[in-house]
Amino acid sequence: MFKSLRVVMLAGVLVMFAFSPIFGQSQVKKIPQRSEIAEKYKWRLQDIYPSDEKWEQDFSKVKALLPQAEKFKGHLAESGKMLLDCLALQDSIWIMFDPMYVYAYMKLDEDTRVSKYQEMSDRAGGMNSKIREAFSFVDPEILSIPQERLKQLMGEEKGLALYAHYIDNIQRNREHTLSTQEEELLAQAGPLAQVPRNVFTMIEDADLKFGSIIDEEGNEVQLTRQRYADFLRSTDRRVRKDASDTYSEAWVEYINGLGANLAGSIKKDIFFAHARNYSSTLEASLHADNIPVEVFDNLIETVNGNLKPIHQYVSLRKKYLGLDELHKYDMWVPLVPKAKMEIPYDSAVTLVLNALKPMGKKYVDELRDGFNSGWVDVYETKGKGSGAYSWGAYTTHPYMLLNYSNSLDNVFTVAHEMGHNMHRLYSSRSQPYIYSGHSLFVAEVASTTNEMLLMDYLLKHAKTKEEKLYLLNYYIEMIEGTFYTQVMFAEFERDAHAKAEAGEALSAKSLRKLYRDIYQKYEGPDLVLDSLDDLGCLRISHFYRNFYVYKYATSLSAASVISKKILAGDKNALKMYIEGLLEAGDSEYPIDILKDAGVDMTQPEPVNAMVDLYANLVNEFEQLLVQ
Ligand SMILES: [Zn+2]
Repeated sequence: MFKSLRVVMLAGVLVMFAFSPIFGQSQVKKIPQRSEIAEKYKWRLQDIYPSDEKWEQDFSKVKALLPQAEKFKGHLAESGKMLLDCLALQDSIWIMFDPMYVYAYMKLDEDTRVSKYQEMSDRAGGMNSKIREAFSFVDPEILSIPQERLKQLMGEEKGLALYAHYIDNIQRNREHTLSTQEEELLAQAGPLAQVPRNVFTMIEDADLKFGSIIDEEGNEVQLTRQRYADFLRSTDRRVRKDASDTYSEAWVEYINGLGANLAGSIKKDIFFAHARNYSSTLEASLHADNIPVEVFDNLIETVNGNLKPIHQYVSLRKKYLGLDELHKYDMWVPLVPKAKMEIPYDSAVTLVLNALKPMGKKYVDELRDGFNSGWVDVYETKGKGSGAYSWGAYTTHPYMLLNYSNSLDNVFTVAHEMGHNMHRLYSSRSQPYIYSGHSLFVAEVASTTNEMLLMDYLLKHAKTKEEKLYLLNYYIEMIEGTFYTQVMFAEFERDAHAKAEAGEALSAKSLRKLYRDIYQKYEGPDLVLDSLDDLGCLRISHFYRNFYVYKYATSLSAASVISKKILAGDKNALKMYIEGLLEAGDSEYPIDILKDAGVDMTQPEPVNAMVDLYANLVNEFEQLLVQ
């Protein structure tokens, strides 16, 4: 994920790589050259720069402007005008630079083998660091200005009113900022803090060797992470079990090291939280988005009070698969055969446009325009960047990279990333540059609301029982991956940190016990956990980035409330969503933005709405299945 000041690239939903295996065996197909793709299926980067020469000219301009930052250093408190001029310079340089950065990396993604754009994106990356470096004094210097003096400066310069929220956001760090000397010491400890995550990555990517298994056709196949995910969906139970055992056996070789490493990572979190005067690691982590700890606790407690629907689905799975004992390796085999849904891109566009009609004519018209105006790079071509994302800069229209291949998943990706694109469009248009970005907490609401509207439309228009069953199953598992699994992870993170904070020593054994208990509690009594089924806690990379996955669950909850109201034709709710969230950028703190959009994340209501939706889907699925 790349990031320059306001330019956040939003990649696909977490669930895609956490729990949702890619369907089917890969077919040998010929990947076309970019030149073979019709223009209307390619994005128009020439809307950003008509030529690379123009890019070079702007690059030189930014380079020439940058030394001006220096003259403000140490002088911000001198006058309101001085402070304003500095902030305005910072903005104007980023406004000019963001499109250059986005252009260089998107050019590279068209064909990552082209050395010209490898070089150009390297230079953009280098310049990005230089700009950050040049203005790195600004926030600490604002923090060093006594509050009273800051108030005076704001009073004497009207133009600073624009920056009130920006400055307030910096000020929140006052009590968590240390003396210059202490800050230097903490900065020096920074590389040490990276060690646990690096160790994990090295084990996962370099050291881990999986054995082989015999597949459905009797061939010996070397296991890989992707194949493991595929095999878990196999209808041959023996294959699922072998894949699961072989996968776990590879991890268990590293088990004590992994346990010590995760414990070390948690100690690191505690060290920094204490050093910065936070009462807990959780508080320290949520502080970045100014999210109250109650929001996190409320999410976990509300889900804990509503675990029945998951248990019901697990029981249904056991019953429907006709098993005496349901094991973890039985949890991903699809309950209904994949409906024949080949959806060409043009049909996907029509589907998404129809599904989003409840968003109102203006939204849909602009969305249609976007599809027809070079926003989207549709097909996989030789050397093209992988995956899917939404991107763009303040002064450009939004862009979307796809590797579209006619699957239902891909249609959801279109709805999801277009949700991000429209959010960008609306926020850029309505906000000054400084507030045109989005926190992840809010951004995933815009994308998943669209996914929910699409799902509702597909379910209402399903032509056969099989299609409806398939969609319900898909939706149920989407919610499990994006919501329940993330809440379960969040609960594990919270409790593991709390134990360490209470002075308890963590080890592979104690971490596994904790994880096993939470896992069993979520899935219910029908799931029989085998001895290695608790290794999840030691092989999930997200645990090295603490208290972050919960945002997917809160976003989905917020989206469930918003989409429900929009689908019910609540015009006021739609207005609040568009004006309070889509147009709001990050002009307020995420919790306040959601409140303006009609969702109070400090209350159980949104989480309950999510749970209700899930429970209804499971009921509907069960009824249809036994019909
Ligand atoms: Zn997203």
